[in-house]
Amino acid sequence: MPTSPKKFDWLIVGAGFAGAVLAERLASQRGDRVLVVDRRNHIGGNAYDRHDDAGVLIHQYGPHIFHTNSDMVFDHLSNFTDWRPYEHRVLGMVDDMLVPIPINLDTVNKLYDLSLTSEELTEWFAARAEPVETIRTSEDVVVSVVGRELYEKFFQGYTRKQWGLDPSQLDKSITARVPIRTDRDDRYFTDKHQAMPAQGYTRMFEAMLDHPNISVMLGTDFRDIRELIPHDRVIYTGPIDEYFDYRFGELPYRSLRFEHETIDKEFALPTGTVNYPQTEAFTRISEYKHMTGQLHSRTAITREYPSAEGDPYYPILNPDSAELFKRYEALAMQTPDVWFVGRLATFRYYNMDQVTGQALATFRRIDEMLPRAMPT
Ligand code: FAD
Ligand code: UDP
Repeated sequence: MPTSPKKFDWLIVGAGFAGAVLAERLASQRGDRVLVVDRRNHIGGNAYDRHDDAGVLIHQYGPHIFHTNSDMVFDHLSNFTDWRPYEHRVLGMVDDMLVPIPINLDTVNKLYDLSLTSEELTEWFAARAEPVETIRTSEDVVVSVVGRELYEKFFQGYTRKQWGLDPSQLDKSITARVPIRTDRDDRYFTDKHQAMPAQGYTRMFEAMLDHPNISVMLGTDFRDIRELIPHDRVIYTGPIDEYFDYRFGELPYRSLRFEHETIDKEFALPTGTVNYPQTEAFTRISEYKHMTGQLHSRTAITREYPSAEGDPYYPILNPDSAELFKRYEALAMQTPDVWFVGRLATFRYYNMDQVTGQALATFRRIDEMLPRAMPT
């Protein structure tokens, strides 16, 4: 007699942070049977890393630096990886000079050949800042602090390249990700925990998904198997507009083309990333060996070319997209037995730690709501 296919408690769409964190929790804490599908041929989502032909560890979808202020998130991921402490530093090619980004005391002193103190720089900024009554856009956030000249040098050109829009057309939260400093701190992030998975992200994902109750199917699109594989519930981490067949129209996402290059010398850049706010078609170049600490006689870099076409990487946040997302969100809330989690499904410009935190919070809600198959 033919056996009917195994029934899964959960079909999880996407093997990135959102999908993998939830798969592990549901399997290990509740004993649920989980199938994770991803249409790519690898796990890890956009955090996927791999060795290039020369054996240098690279990030397939651009530089991913882990940082968080959440002990809970850091402790959770520490169950699946050891860490290598790493504080990211970025230089910008501005007026033909390499200067620290975020803008700090050394940036201004070098760019303008000054020797200001921190107190003097505060006054220097104040003399140039433009008053903005209500800070709404990504232009307002910057010009209200440092004035128009530095805004144009560091933010306007980069943002136009990255988003295909002027900062005045984007929500304030986007450029607000990059602080302005009056001290000499040249770290890109100031979070409490800043570290890279010691063996890379892909190894960490393998450890998360290594559970007898978890099956993984790669190169598989949810739409092709949703009717074929019996399951009770869905966790969906892809683009929310796609889930609903673009019923209200497409949400705007920005894409990138990654140009990876292996270089025949030990290091190519002075730091993990160099930004190009004024010149070049790419926004930045990153060199992974600074981040991973890998010892190798050769090195690998990636240039990021923003593009309107291609995989959706960044939600484009402005009043119109917020309105459109709300309509999809309302639909999602009326869709029983489907949970929408992650950067694309909740249309949020989330970092890896925020997605992990969101997935853990979703697990707690699910666990409160649904009786466990396995007694604890
Ligand atoms: P994703 O990683 O996008 O995973 C979703 C998965 O779902 C994908 O693998 C996709 O193939 C799959 N999928 C979608 N639809 C379907 C379908 N229909 N069927 C099957 N599979 C499907 N964060 C940081 O914290 N630090 C950084 O330095 C950093 N740098 C970044 C640099 C770049 C260039 C980008 C684009 C992002 C960066 N991020 C960074 C953000 C980070 O990538 C995300 O926060 C995180 O990867 C999101 O995880 P996720 O699971 O929500 O989504
Ligand atoms: N940004 C900029 N100049 C820079 C760095 C960042 O204008 O040198 C702006 C730009 O709009 C960018 C946003 O700040 O998209 C957020 O930068 P972040 O480095 O956080 O971007 P991500 O790493 O997520 O691509």
